[in-house]
Amino acid sequence: MDLQLQGQVALVTGGSKGIGEAIVRALLAEGMRVANVNRSADEGQALEREYAERGQECSFIQADLSDADSCQRAVQTALDRFGRLDVVINNAGVNDGAGLDAGAERFIRSLQRNLVHYYLIVHHAREELIRRRGAVVNIGSKVAVTGQGGTSGYAAAKGAINSLTREWALELAQHGVRVNTVIPAEVWTPMYAEWLATLPDPQQARRDIERLIPLGQRFTTAEEIAAMVVFLASPRSAHTTGQIIYVDGGYTHLDRKYVPPAVT
Ligand code: NAP
Repeated sequence: MDLQLQGQVALVTGGSKGIGEAIVRALLAEGMRVANVNRSADEGQALEREYAERGQECSFIQADLSDADSCQRAVQTALDRFGRLDVVINNAGVNDGAGLDAGAERFIRSLQRNLVHYYLIVHHAREELIRRRGAVVNIGSKVAVTGQGGTSGYAAAKGAINSLTREWALELAQHGVRVNTVIPAEVWTPMYAEWLATLPDPQQARRDIERLIPLGQRFTTAEEIAAMVVFLASPRSAHTTGQIIYVDGGYTHLDRKYVPPAVT
């Protein structure tokens, strides 16, 4: 299927690693031009070089998105480099464990890392998105609906992202701009590996989690998240907006006691 994205421009936050990197690669595979806004530089610059050698644009913009001014600069830089912006993918975030005991400063910091930049990127891009009748895809988390324990800031941010998906979809519908959210649950990425490494027996913990995922007893791949994101970014999903879509092998909603029958 031609997703009709050839030549369009996407801004992706946190596009240098994990789910974001898979999204960047999937958008480029559809012939899009990409502005990758990321804090650390090495992987982003390497991606830019890799695609430049193939004649494709994967422009790296360095920014710490937890700083409000950086969000404005990132959008402006993308517009200056490409002259247009059709798609925003809000992806950067960190499950930073600011729990009930963390207090005001860490809680607010967690919202700055996980929520405020989602708003600011769309705020600064809105006029251009309206001009292009573009699309926004947010990356949320199952934690918004399941909770996790010990991570109030992240849970609050991801819950708010679900709410903003509905709010922005409605506000922007009159302009033909669509807004959707993709929810991962268990995806093997650098962030996930770091978290698992904090547990007493990471290998056993991984097996225990995999057993709870109904479809295939395995983690979702970052590429499987990216495939849904690209579809939602594309005109092929022209009548889909305000949706919160779980790409999680059934983990969030199906019965986690399910055990597949033994293969004989
Ligand atoms: P990851 O492996 O840590 O990658 C995140 C990327 O975002 C990194 O490149 C990181 O850059 C960048 N980033 C983070 N904070 C940033 C900031 N303040 N400014 C600029 N760049 C920033 O994480 P991931 O697992 O792919 O997660 C991506 C998204 O999926 C997040 O929103 C996360 O909440 C969500 N999610 C993931 C899972 C999962 O199972 N992995 C589950 C549910 C939801 P640095 O190199 O500077 O760190």
